[in-house]
Amino acid sequence: MLLASSAWNRYKIMPTKRRTYNTRLIRKHHAYYVHEVAELFGVHKNAVSNWVKQGLKTIDGNRPMMIHGSDLTQFHDQRQKSRKSTCQPGEFYCCKCRQPRQAWERLVDLISLKKGGWLVKALCVSCGTKMQRITSDKKLPEIRQLFVVQTINGEHIKESSASLVMRDFNQGEK
Ligand SMILES: [Zn+2]
Repeated sequence: MLLASSAWNRYKIMPTKRRTYNTRLIRKHHAYYVHEVAELFGVHKNAVSNWVKQGLKTIDGNRPMMIHGSDLTQFHDQRQKSRKSTCQPGEFYCCKCRQPRQAWERLVDLISLKKGGWLVKALCVSCGTKMQRITSDKKLPEIRQLFVVQTINGEHIKESSASLVMRDFNQGEK
C-alpha cells in the first residue's frame, strides 16, 4: 500500500520531467548493475527500477538485478521515439538529435498523401537532418501560419500563393 501511494505521488510529478538519455553512453555488450546504470545517466536507482517496471528487460536469474547494455539502449530508443507525438506545433521529431526540433528557416515541403492528409518535410535547425511529420487536411492552414511552404508535391511556390495552397487543400479533401 505504501509503495503504491509513493509510486502514485511520483507519477504525479514525473510527467513534467521529460529527460532525453544519451544512449550512446551505453556499452552494448556490457551487463550493468542497477547502480551502474544510475551512475551512467546520473539518475537515482529508483528511476532504473521504474524503467524495469515499464518494460526494461533484466538478465534473468541474476541477483542482484543486472541489465544488458543492448536492452537498455533499445528501451530508451523506443521510449524516446514514442515521444514523437509530443512535438509542439511547429516542431518535428529529429531522429539524430532524438528530440523535437524547429524547422530550419521555418521552411517546409508539403506532399499530399493518397489516403488524405499531408507529409510535411523540413530540416532540423540544429543538425540539418531531414525530419517529417504527417498532418491532416484540417491542420494545413495552421501549417501555413507556422511555416514558409517551399514546395507542394515538388512544385515550387512563390510568396502569396495562398490560392494554390487552397486549391491543393481542396483537392486533398476529396
Ligand atoms: Zn537534429
